[in-house]
Amino acid sequence: MSKRSKALVQEELGVWGSRGVIGHFDHPLSRPWVEFTDKLAPLMAEVVGANEKEVAVMATLTSNLHLMMDSFYKPTPERYKILCEAKAFPSDQYAFASQALAHGLDPTKAILELSPREGEYTLREEDILRTLDEQGSSIALVLFSGVQYYTGQWFPIESITKKAKEQGCICGWDLAHAAGNVPLRLHGWNVDFAVWCTYKYLNSSPGGIAGAFMHEKWNDIERPKFAGWWGHELATRFQMPPTFSPITGVQGFQQSNPSVLALASLLGSLETLKEAGMMNPVRERSLQLTGALEKLLKQSKYFVPASEVLQKYTQSGSTAPGFTIITPAEPSSRGAQLSLLFLPVGSGIMQKVFHTLLSYGVIGDERQPDVIRLAPAPLYNTLEDCENGAKFVEKAMDLL
Ligand SMILES: *Cc1c(COP(=O)(O)O)cnc(C)c1O
Repeated sequence: MSKRSKALVQEELGVWGSRGVIGHFDHPLSRPWVEFTDKLAPLMAEVVGANEKEVAVMATLTSNLHLMMDSFYKPTPERYKILCEAKAFPSDQYAFASQALAHGLDPTKAILELSPREGEYTLREEDILRTLDEQGSSIALVLFSGVQYYTGQWFPIESITKKAKEQGCICGWDLAHAAGNVPLRLHGWNVDFAVWCTYKYLNSSPGGIAGAFMHEKWNDIERPKFAGWWGHELATRFQMPPTFSPITGVQGFQQSNPSVLALASLLGSLETLKEAGMMNPVRERSLQLTGALEKLLKQSKYFVPASEVLQKYTQSGSTAPGFTIITPAEPSSRGAQLSLLFLPVGSGIMQKVFHTLLSYGVIGDERQPDVIRLAPAPLYNTLEDCENGAKFVEKAMDLL
């Protein structure tokens, strides 16, 4: 939680308490609630590399994913598939399957999932591009996560988008773990649409408000299909005209009056990010921290290189407690995350290590059945945190 988020939320509680509904229009701190999102859109656009009008701050990630898919996933008998990574975040899997069903399609046929090669944990760019070359004409929508939540792989967004567009596919991105984590250039990369939440690397608060991007080239073509008053032009919104007149672009897709407390909290965190210089310096710091944590973890006596796991555990049946790192070793293919896979898989070691780490004050993220994600977040973690993190992983393994 940023100090600024806390202060801004408290300020808005104060305005609510003193002004009530009037705060929508007349706000003692010059943040009238009806136009609060105008303060957020420019900062958010900077985070994802978009023009201000290509970004909307609205709703929640999965809702935005459905809204965008409803506009952009238009299967035909020849071109109907959704290409995505295997083991995508479950909410996305549910969304893909339900969107396919809504078009009368069998999800097992419509959804094309790419898995890593045998003995590998992450997808190879060449395999993704080859699939697009081979099957592109039957793919309606390419939708990967920018940074994969489980493995931490940062997909090559630019090259996948380029290939998808060459093949005539729509290309969308789920940036839940990428926004605020890695530098993005959605406009320049010619991405069609993207959605993200703000409560991971953007620290907006649990369940905070989400974001959506639609490239401006779509402004005249994709109009909001599920209209709501917040998508209506601000100038006449409160005159309550009977006919919907949407804001041009993705902001026309807004439906409801957003939670001001969620907006205030996000504003605090985005202003903090802005003060730190936005994504380039933050990424530099992130590279340092993640690199340092990786180096320390690899010095552990329990560390097993990913290339040896198959031989040692699957073929030779070792039962020695250990861990490997399944996140790509190449810094340009990852953000501020290392996913530790505890070995042997299915042995329950991960759960024990996770609870010991918590007792030492190391808050990682447990991913059943065998992974702990450690994310040295550059806005608030230090090198000392990385040293402690690695030291306590070692201690927790010693205690097994
Ligand atoms: C966190 C996350 C979600 C969660 O979506 P909400 O609708 O905000 O609950 C969905 N997809 C991905 C890839 C995520 O990382």
